[in-house]
Amino acid sequence: MTKYRFLAALTMLAASLPTAYAAPLDATASANVAANTYSNVQQVRTRHIALDLAVDFKKSVLSGTATLELERIDPSATQVILDTQDLDIAKTETSVDGEVWLKAPFTLGQSDEVLGAPLTITLPADATRVRVTYASKPQASGLQWLPPAQTLGKKHPFMFSQSESIHGRSWIPMQDTPFVRATYEARVRTPKGLRAVMSAEMHDKPDASGAWTFKMPQAIPSYLIALAVGDIGFQSTGPRTGVYAEPGLLKKAAYEFGETERTLQLMEQAFGPYRWGRYDILVLPPSFPFGGMENPRLTFATPTVITGDRMLVSLVSHELAHSWSGNLVTNASWNDFWLNEGFTEYLTYRLLDMQFGQARGDMERVLGLTDLKGSMSHLDKIDWSLVRSTPPKDPDAVYSSVPYERGNLFLTWLEAQFGRGAFDAFLRGWFDDHAFQSATTGEFVAYLQDKLMAQQPGKVTQAQLDAWLHQPEIPDFAVLPHSDALNKVDQERDAWLSGKTTLDALPAKQWNVHEWQQFFDNMPASATLEQVQLLDARYKLSQTHNAIIASAWFRVAIAHGDKAVLPAAQHYLGSVGRMRLISPLYRELMKTPEGKAYAEQTYAKVKSGYNVIAQQAVERILKGESGG
Ligand SMILES: [Zn+2]
Repeated sequence: MTKYRFLAALTMLAASLPTAYAAPLDATASANVAANTYSNVQQVRTRHIALDLAVDFKKSVLSGTATLELERIDPSATQVILDTQDLDIAKTETSVDGEVWLKAPFTLGQSDEVLGAPLTITLPADATRVRVTYASKPQASGLQWLPPAQTLGKKHPFMFSQSESIHGRSWIPMQDTPFVRATYEARVRTPKGLRAVMSAEMHDKPDASGAWTFKMPQAIPSYLIALAVGDIGFQSTGPRTGVYAEPGLLKKAAYEFGETERTLQLMEQAFGPYRWGRYDILVLPPSFPFGGMENPRLTFATPTVITGDRMLVSLVSHELAHSWSGNLVTNASWNDFWLNEGFTEYLTYRLLDMQFGQARGDMERVLGLTDLKGSMSHLDKIDWSLVRSTPPKDPDAVYSSVPYERGNLFLTWLEAQFGRGAFDAFLRGWFDDHAFQSATTGEFVAYLQDKLMAQQPGKVTQAQLDAWLHQPEIPDFAVLPHSDALNKVDQERDAWLSGKTTLDALPAKQWNVHEWQQFFDNMPASATLEQVQLLDARYKLSQTHNAIIASAWFRVAIAHGDKAVLPAAQHYLGSVGRMRLISPLYRELMKTPEGKAYAEQTYAKVKSGYNVIAQQAVERILKGESGG
């Protein structure tokens, strides 16, 4: 997913349908996988999931069946254990052939706040399938149910899922770990007039029975199964690309994301074929907690990047890059998360260089580094390294810029050691050789040693790899980004603050969103309240429609004690649910007793508009816990 910003290939795919067999895990990798799932993946693995679900907006519930086709790794296994979170289980059955079903005994274990409850189903010796009849609960952490008032059209309700990292289990009983990959199909019944979309092959009409049907023929990890239902229209933007959105937003979205086919082609030229068929983008209501989520074939995106100037399309570059890093080659456990996000961030910057020139890529690299330092300032040291010494139980609780930006710095440094040509060939090989597989950090290191370090000995040492992966500090030999354009913003701001120039001399009219971000990111504590208030008076920042500039501005205004902005900041916190934009404001408010009271009061007022994942993140901040 994005921390922020943002039909030809079918021939490949037919030849390479799901061969998702992971190598045996060593002890570290096993412990990493086991930290977030109850499932007995060393005995039984799901290879296909068939969902048959009804969407009930009145009750905020999905109900129906999930049928899992299983591969028995250990022939002596007598049970399959699935992950669930807040699910009502009505019945479980098993089958040998998918035709005759027998009722099977099950137990639902004690529920843990983070991991949910294990669903243990007795498995007869020759059974190859289990079918679970169930319903989700209204509080399902992986689903958000929006009343009409929280949509753009205000007429119809909307619902969407967010399964990463371990929220899929709140709407599908399954082996909810990225170590297991399965193909899936689904039938989804919606209220009349509403459309269902999923991360799969779709049809533009429901079938004769009124159900929307879906098929994902490539094996994917559980966190990439995604569903949204609402008043959703579609507009094509290219031969393989298009946008889904509420009808009132379609035109703007199609303009903003109009370059997607070209982006896709650039990625293919550099890193190999796009293997997923179509690439569409679904624009969600503003409560979506992330910038984007790389659900295969259908990226879910925040509307906060639709600014009319295509300046925030790096979100698309990021989510599109996940079609290689993350979706094609997936982190085997959440302690290997950097394999998804570090690779993707590195590819995003490379893609930005190709799309808009290196000056633009470098601007975003510098802002990324600022973000990394910001995260490190409020994270425990154990979370500074790419791989934690103990795997996190709740991946959301340690979510931060570290896997993204430190991961990017690591790969940027490797590129500098081996040269771009050799490193690009290495990356392409990594994607090809691990396509549709889940990989561990250990496998990455072994591949690096085999394909690069052995070919060019002496360039990289074990101690250096250890410094990147396991030590907390950013290595002092890191290759850090640099942007002349952003340095200029720093000079201009500092000249104004020190009285060398006037506010009118700032070339702010020409600044893009990144330059504004830099202006605020590096605002020194020594700037006076009067200076900060002058900015608002001059540039009407509290009224800006650009959600990214607004977040950066409100943080600075709050930090400098500008109480006049609080009503506007509160209104903003109630209109956007993207964590990257709202968390810094809550965190800033928490620094004074008065601000803390205001943060608590604001949150109580606006929380019903937030996704559960965002609610949990804000609550951690209000409790004063560390975190991204
Ligand atoms: Zn991402």
